[in-house]
Amino acid sequence: MAAPGLRPGLGRLFEMPAALGRVRRAYSTSQAFAEVLRLPKKQLTKLVFPLQELERHLVPDSKHEFHLKIFDPSLEDIARAESIFTATAQNRIEYLSSAERLDHAPALPRPEVCFIGRSNVGKSSLIKALFSLAPDVEVRVSKKPGHTKKMNFFKVGKYFTLVDMPGYGYRAPEDFVDMVETYLKERKNLMRTFLLVDSVVGIQKTDNIAVEMCEEFALPYVMVLTKIDKSSKGHLLKQVLQIQKFVDTKTQGCFPQLFPVRFLLDLPCSAVTYSGIHLLRCFIADITGNLKTHGFQFS
Ligand code: GDP
Repeated sequence: MAAPGLRPGLGRLFEMPAALGRVRRAYSTSQAFAEVLRLPKKQLTKLVFPLQELERHLVPDSKHEFHLKIFDPSLEDIARAESIFTATAQNRIEYLSSAERLDHAPALPRPEVCFIGRSNVGKSSLIKALFSLAPDVEVRVSKKPGHTKKMNFFKVGKYFTLVDMPGYGYRAPEDFVDMVETYLKERKNLMRTFLLVDSVVGIQKTDNIAVEMCEEFALPYVMVLTKIDKSSKGHLLKQVLQIQKFVDTKTQGCFPQLFPVRFLLDLPCSAVTYSGIHLLRCFIADITGNLKTHGFQFS
């Protein structure tokens, strides 16, 4: 049985010293995650599952509305995903190229995931955090209004390609129609779209354009909630419940579990600056077919 207050994956681990040994071996390539494992339980839970602490503020009736555990991998799975995201001589993680149009995009056989969101939603910060185990990767940022915006392709070893789509905002939907829409509609190897939503302001009109596109093309997509450190617990809870309700009632293709992320600067662990990132890495590794995890309750 899981320790009180812990998700099953974490609970299992803490009860079994042998499992912890196995996990540590699985991380031999991931120094950062080995450090994470040394954190006290409470901090470890907060780091891997940032919404967990909000759950206790929910009234019992609304607990079922909060789908925290649909993707519930073990720490062993998370460790395997960390090694996929860790650059080594054998596992090259690098920027490949940029393209303004789909027909200029590299033809790549590997599965692909893409990240889209409004300008300023925290997309570059998130992608930098995802690549923090590959310090040579440079995430390019082009923010000037009117500046040509491009899709940026990153190779993650032999495993998958990650695409950073231009932020929408100033000139949406024009940029979208020309580039993003064509990409979403026609990219054959696109496995999942990660739609970033600012948790402080919730789903905005422009976010709806992206939602409608994913729905229209019947794409599987996931909502990532950024900046969850910026609101009070009460405001965050309200926003999360609203977004969850939107996902449950207004969407077909959106994965029911929300993936929250935030800067986390108060941990005594220099390598860790973002909470929620480990679960997100594990989810990406899984849906690109690189982990045979049993982490899904259903999919
Ligand atoms: P982009 O335009 O979507 O690429 O957004 P950026 O990653 O450049 O982030 C926009 C602003 O939000 C920057 O000032 C970031 O420092 C800030 N930001 C991004 N993520 C977070 C977060 O999780 N928490 C907080 N407090 N600020 C964030």
